[in-house]
Amino acid sequence: MRTIGLIGGMSWESSAEYYRIINQCVRDQLGPLRSAQVLMYSVDFGPVEQAQHAGRWDDTALILEDAARRLQAGGAECVVLCTNTMHKLAPRIEAAVSIPFLHIADAAALAAVEAGTLTVGLLGTAFTMEQDFLTSRLTGHGLTVLLPDADERKEVHRVIYEELCVGVISDTSRRTYQRVIQSLAARGAQAVILGCTEIGLLIKPEHSELPLLDTTALHAQAAVAFALQD
Ligand code: GLU
Repeated sequence: MRTIGLIGGMSWESSAEYYRIINQCVRDQLGPLRSAQVLMYSVDFGPVEQAQHAGRWDDTALILEDAARRLQAGGAECVVLCTNTMHKLAPRIEAAVSIPFLHIADAAALAAVEAGTLTVGLLGTAFTMEQDFLTSRLTGHGLTVLLPDADERKEVHRVIYEELCVGVISDTSRRTYQRVIQSLAARGAQAVILGCTEIGLLIKPEHSELPLLDTTALHAQAAVAFALQD
C-alpha cells in the first residue's frame, strides 16, 4: 500500500472527513482491520483565511509548498490537498514536490463523466466559483458548469466561512442551499458538484433534488485508488 499525504486544516472540519472516508474505503476494500497509511500535515487556517480574503495568495502558496515538502520528506507518496479553494495554487504545490499531486477537480469530473451528467452546478467559495482555476479544469474534462447567481454565491460563500468551517450546521442554511440547488436544476444542471470540502457536512443526498458529486468523498476515494494501485 502506498502512503497518502494529506494537506489538511482548511478547515479541519473537512480534513477529519477525509481521514474517516479514506480509512472506511480501505476497510471496505481490504477487510475489517485494515486501514490506510496516511500522513497529514494540518495547517493553522487562521492566517491562510486572512491571506485569501486579502488577496495575498503568494503567502498561502509558501505555507502549502512547505506542507507538501514536509509530507514528501516524511514518506508520503502523493499529495492530496483537502480543499477546493486552495487548488488555485495547485501548480505551485505540484512544482514543489516530485510525488504526484491528485487534483480534486479531476476526481469530481471523472465521476460526472462516468455518471453521464455533463451539465453540472457548482457550489463552493466565491474564489472557487468566480475564478477559473477549478471551472477550467472541469470544462477541460468536457463538463458544462453552471454557477449560482451573484446573491446566491455570496450567501453560499458566507455560510462556508461563518458556519461550516467552524462546525455550525444550520437548518436555515440547508434550506438556502436547497433553494440554490433547485434553481441550478431549473437551469438544466443534471448534478451538483459540492466544490467545497465542508458542504457535504450540510447537504446529504436526501437533501438534494440533484445527484451530488461531493468533492471530499470523490477526492478521498481517488487517494485510496492511488494508494491501493499495484
Ligand atoms: N474547504 C473549503 C474548500 O473546499 C473552503 C476553505 C478554504 O478556503 O480552503 O474550498
